[in-house]
Amino acid sequence: MLNSPYGGKLVNREEFGKKERYIEEARESPVIFPYIDFFYDSFKISDGSYSPLEGFMDRNTLETVLNETRLPSGLPWSIPVILAVKSDEIRGVKEGDRVILGAHDRNPFGFIDIDEIYKVEKEKIASKIYGTTDPVHPNVEDLELRYGDTALGGKVTIFERLPMPGGSYELSPAETRARFESLGWKNVVAYQARNPPHVAHEYLQKVSLEVPGIDGLFIHLVVGKLKKGDYKASVILDSYRALIDNYHRRERVLMGALSITMRYAGPKAALFLATIRRNYGATHYIIGRDQAGVGNFYGPYDAHKMFDEFNIGITPLKYTDTFYCRKCQGITSEKVCPHDKSSRIMISQTKIREMLTRGEPIPGEIIRKEVAEILSKGNVIAD
Ligand SMILES: [Zn+2]
Repeated sequence: MLNSPYGGKLVNREEFGKKERYIEEARESPVIFPYIDFFYDSFKISDGSYSPLEGFMDRNTLETVLNETRLPSGLPWSIPVILAVKSDEIRGVKEGDRVILGAHDRNPFGFIDIDEIYKVEKEKIASKIYGTTDPVHPNVEDLELRYGDTALGGKVTIFERLPMPGGSYELSPAETRARFESLGWKNVVAYQARNPPHVAHEYLQKVSLEVPGIDGLFIHLVVGKLKKGDYKASVILDSYRALIDNYHRRERVLMGALSITMRYAGPKAALFLATIRRNYGATHYIIGRDQAGVGNFYGPYDAHKMFDEFNIGITPLKYTDTFYCRKCQGITSEKVCPHDKSSRIMISQTKIREMLTRGEPIPGEIIRKEVAEILSKGNVIAD
């Protein structure tokens, strides 16, 4: 059996086909145009990716997430999902009102029924979730500079699904569950990525596919908002397509895209990303070194420990550092390779980017040639 949705039931807050009616009914309602983080979250709440959440968090829910890493029901939950607007955007709006949500091209796509309006304590969120109030951290910078100071809590409904950076790969949890079932998969291991794959990633994917009982691999690529230096969504998708087509058994791998803003909250982000993958049907979840980290804010294995502390009903597959070893003559890991560090070719995204910038060929010990070709085309990184 595929894993059950988190909290027992897959949330669905989509009401496609009722757009005209809702807009007509809401003619007098105010419209807000949420910041991109909340824009993406609206769609992920409504398609059940964030089950059991049905809307943006009220104050009590946010507080229990901040203080206990749990929802008020007691279920572990590690990342705030709030809608923070500037107070002048909602002048005259009160609790109980319906507010229309609009995209940046002004196209309305849904609404929120407001249960609660409350003040956002930005410093508290930054320190509790990201462990820092330093705006050098990309999410803290957003929180401080781009989030409003007023939160709207309440259920969200979406009446139109808009195009996402993931394109045709942007599958909902109901869609992946249907695919897994048609493939006959019961035990599915999910792999989180937000960068083009190098061979050490492929190794973790294949080692996980070797685990007895695992039927398939779900590669789920976070491609939402870009920060400076990130690979563009199309580059991530194309390079994974090339990897899967040339180096994986295609009938054992499904690729999907997840357009959300990446939360670089280290262990808390890893738990959140795994919770989402449970909603997509995954039973197992791959965690390598320093998942969802940025800079040196988190320890390399903090994410591993998080899964000892909180059980979210998905089996973590924890891996140590992986690299090419000249003596082993292949990709291996700290856990199994007996050779010293001088035999290792460490692979980092920074190193790959430097080689690309200098126009140097990337060796096959680091990246498959089909992937390297895509990365060498130029114009692959956001500025
Ligand atoms: Zn070795």
